[in-house]
Amino acid sequence: MQNSTKPLMLVLSSPSGAGKTTLTKKIQESDNSFQVSISHTTRKARPNEVDGVDYHFVSREKFKQLIDQKAFYEYAKIFDNYYGTSKSSINKITGDGKNVLFDIDWQGAEQLSNYKELNILKIFILPPNIEELKKRLVSRNQDDAEAIEKRLSAYSRDLIHSKNYDHVIVNDKVEICFKEIKAIISSRMKDKN
Ligand code: 5GP
Repeated sequence: MQNSTKPLMLVLSSPSGAGKTTLTKKIQESDNSFQVSISHTTRKARPNEVDGVDYHFVSREKFKQLIDQKAFYEYAKIFDNYYGTSKSSINKITGDGKNVLFDIDWQGAEQLSNYKELNILKIFILPPNIEELKKRLVSRNQDDAEAIEKRLSAYSRDLIHSKNYDHVIVNDKVEICFKEIKAIISSRMKDKN
C-alpha cells in the first residue's frame, strides 16, 4: 500500500497539564477525518468520565488477559495503572477510513514506532515552564497534592524522551500551538500525497 492511502497515526504526548486534552478536542472538531483512539485503562474513572467514551475502564485481571491475548498495539504502566491501545479499536477507526489521534505517553509512542508499516507522526507538547505546569495542575482541581507531585516529577523524566518525537511544541497560547499542529499535519499530508 502507498503511504498516501495509509491513515495518519497522529500521536500527541505531553506531561499531564500541558493542555493536550484541549488540543486533542480542537483537532478532532476542526478535522473530522481524525478519530481519537479510546484506550483501555485499569485506572478508576474520574467523576466526569464515561466508560467507552474517555476510556474503556477494565480490571487488572481483564487487562492482563488482553496482554496475554496480544490484543494491544502498545501498553504501559503509568502512575501505578496500566494503559493500552487495543488493536481492535484502531482497526475499527482505520477500517472506517479515518485517521487516528492518540493521546498516549512516550512508552506507547516508542512501541508504536516499531510498527514500521504505520504512517506515524509524533508530536510532544510542552508547557511553557514547570511553574506554569504546576499552576495548571492545581487549578484544574483533578488531583490531590501527592498526585500533583508525582506528575511534576514525571515531567522531568518525560522531557528526556521528547527527543524521539518528530516535533516538540511549547503550548504557551493554545491557539498558536493548535495552528502549529495543524501546519505540521498538513505538511505531512502533502508530503505523502
Ligand atoms: P490520565 O490518567 O491522566 O488520563 O492519563 C495519564 C497518561 O496516560 C497520559 O500521559 C496519557 O497520554 C497516557 N495514556 C492514556 N492512554 C494511553 C495508552 O493507551 N497507552 C499509553 N502508553 N499511554 C496512555
